[in-house]
Amino acid sequence: MTLRYHTIPVTPFAQNCSLVWCDETQEAALIDPGGELPRLLAEVQKRGLTLKAIWLTHAHIDHAGGTGQLAREQGLPIIGPHQGDQFWIDGLAQQAQMFGFAPAEGFTPTRWLDDGDEVQIGRQTLTVRHCPGHTPGHVVFHSAVIKRCFVGDVLFAGSIGRTDFPGGNHAQLLASIRERLWPMGDDTVFIPGHGPESSFGVERRSNPFVRQG
Ligand SMILES: [Zn+2]
Ligand SMILES: [Zn+2]
Repeated sequence: MTLRYHTIPVTPFAQNCSLVWCDETQEAALIDPGGELPRLLAEVQKRGLTLKAIWLTHAHIDHAGGTGQLAREQGLPIIGPHQGDQFWIDGLAQQAQMFGFAPAEGFTPTRWLDDGDEVQIGRQTLTVRHCPGHTPGHVVFHSAVIKRCFVGDVLFAGSIGRTDFPGGNHAQLLASIRERLWPMGDDTVFIPGHGPESSFGVERRSNPFVRQG
């Protein structure tokens, strides 16, 4: 019995929305439903899963754009991100305009997340780490059981998140990566918000932005 996941790139930014589920109860959550809701729901249905929650890493439009509509239509709780991203949620309409996205429906998280919190899906529990720097309220979801971490735009294979947006902070991002991601272990595979998976060990050794952390 374990946690399983399938990643579906959505929006013009190819944002990695992850469908995660407990293979004992078939209960599922969508991490960062940025858009293309019919595709996401088709995947849920195809796998015979019951969608129970939306989990957000941060409130940029490509990650959170589909949240309001999905939560309303499916009656789902919105878990996360950390309260530091309230201003990004408030600015979803402007974000949509700026990046040429369809107008995004507003929302209020059912539950804000803090460092050390836990989220559950079926019989699986993931730990939340607050990883500010790309946005002030960015969180990641860690499953120690399957050694996977859903990191949003904190870290990428060979790169790190942008910090030139309002509320971004480069030093804080590096601290988040070194102090909160690396301790999860070199053999932990991470699912970034964009692009291919990698492991913390590989990035520690070879990522020019965070090497020797
Ligand atoms: Zn982002
Ligand atoms: Zn992104």
